Amino acid sequence: MKDFRSKLMSNPQTITGYAAGAFAAPTGEAIPVIDPATGTTVAVLHESDGAEVDTAVAAARDAFRAGPWAGASVADRQRALHAIHDAILEHAEELAALETLNTGIPFIQTKNIHLPRAAQNFRFFAEFINQDGGEVFTQEPGYMSLVTYEPIGVCALIGPWNMPLGLTAMKMAGALAFGNTCVVKPSEITPLTLARLFEIIDAKGILPPGVINLVNGRGHVTGEALSAHPDIDMVSFTGGTETGARILGALAKGIKGGAMELGGKSPSIVFADADIERALDGAMLGSFMNNGQMCLAGSRLFVHEQVADEFIAAFTTRTKALRVGDPFDPATEIGPMINAAQVARVASYVESGLGQGATLLAGGGQIESDGFFIEPTVMQSNSNALAICQEEIFAPFATIQTFSDEDEVIARANDSAFGLVGYVWTADLERALRLSRRLATGTVLVNTPIMRDLRTGFGGVRQSGLGREGAKGSRAMFTEMKSTIIALERPALPRMGTGN
Ligand code: NDP
Repeated sequence: MKDFRSKLMSNPQTITGYAAGAFAAPTGEAIPVIDPATGTTVAVLHESDGAEVDTAVAAARDAFRAGPWAGASVADRQRALHAIHDAILEHAEELAALETLNTGIPFIQTKNIHLPRAAQNFRFFAEFINQDGGEVFTQEPGYMSLVTYEPIGVCALIGPWNMPLGLTAMKMAGALAFGNTCVVKPSEITPLTLARLFEIIDAKGILPPGVINLVNGRGHVTGEALSAHPDIDMVSFTGGTETGARILGALAKGIKGGAMELGGKSPSIVFADADIERALDGAMLGSFMNNGQMCLAGSRLFVHEQVADEFIAAFTTRTKALRVGDPFDPATEIGPMINAAQVARVASYVESGLGQGATLLAGGGQIESDGFFIEPTVMQSNSNALAICQEEIFAPFATIQTFSDEDEVIARANDSAFGLVGYVWTADLERALRLSRRLATGTVLVNTPIMRDLRTGFGGVRQSGLGREGAKGSRAMFTEMKSTIIALERPALPRMGTGN
């Protein structure tokens, strides 16, 4: 795998957009793409400007209007989705290596978790559309009312840097399954895997030209040109809350919808009756997988005071023992942060926590190297009001608070601007069900970390987002519900204008 890195370092790739079945010429502003483990340039991205975004949207519109995709049978769409699934698995090793190189996420995670999941999205939606249907209502005498789900049109799919392939593959699979065409915009920091996926799909001729299109570039240039484009029909966005609000503002002008998967500060509550070893395993994964750069991180820990000493000591010891290093090394558990800004962000939160009275239990420092490495960090706080307990840090950074009773911990867990996931560790089934009702989050996970089931919806409440990704949630996102009401017999109508 080290060869993989040196090959790209000595011969950086050129990344350009893709529209109407062809890659763009490398004419846009050149932006270096960095390997965060070494700080070196591994590719050069050529930014898509407004004109290139226009071309991509027009290609998607033509493909939608001319109908090769919206008009395709479910069986045709299924075949294409299965072909993309197979193509991802065929190239899994290479795509996982690119994802690791560009994001710093350990290769064992990109290879064993991200890639299979990226592929699975396409298979799942291929299967879902075969079983999915509309609804028929017959309660109104003399009428039959039908509800069908029509493709929405041209979807703008905008993804973040922390899990570029997996999260955007989910959007592509959903948009395509329901008969839409799309324009994809990855983060300009991590464009490598999606660019390669487009090459693979193009080389295999899986989709008609214009059905999928790619634009690359910075958020305020390419992202804004796409999300404010008058000819897109919706935006499916995953990223930060502020960016989400900005995109919703642009969409409001055109009275269009957007599905927003935004930030989180998810509580993970460990009750005294929990299987403590398992809760520890889950809390470690919830805080530190994906280098801690995870929207659904359960890194705001609440531990019952009866087990707090034991839990906190073990969590701190295990955090200090985490192996930080080259993400291609199979022993590595934590790779580098995505860039220098993230390193500085962690340092500023350590300082803020200390300034507000929190105790530093582990880490807190930067690791000297050419890359962007930090020590995994744990801070204990007596209050949920501290910035480290309220703001999304997006790093291997866990906070721990202790609690004494259920009502109190629910109030503190819900005291957050976010509401993505609530984690509960308990052996008491009734308690688990009570918390599932009372936690103000889009998802509640009981005795398990980071589990996603595509049949259910994933998304947040409050500032964590709008809409749900997953079977019916994605259908709501990527289709327009249409009602058709049919009179079964001639209804007696008042005959206006006839004098009767
Ligand atoms: P950002 O909000 O900074 O960026 C997300 C994407 O939006 C990027 O492609 C970015 O481009 C683009 N963008 C930025 N500004 C605009 C704009 N004005 N119009 C259109 N697009 C724009 O998020 P990050 O990439 O920093 O990702 C981290 C965030 O994502 C965290 O808050 C995390 O919680 C959230 N997230 C949420 C998930 C969920 O499912 N709820 C899952 C994963 C992450 P560029 O980067 O090129 O500037």
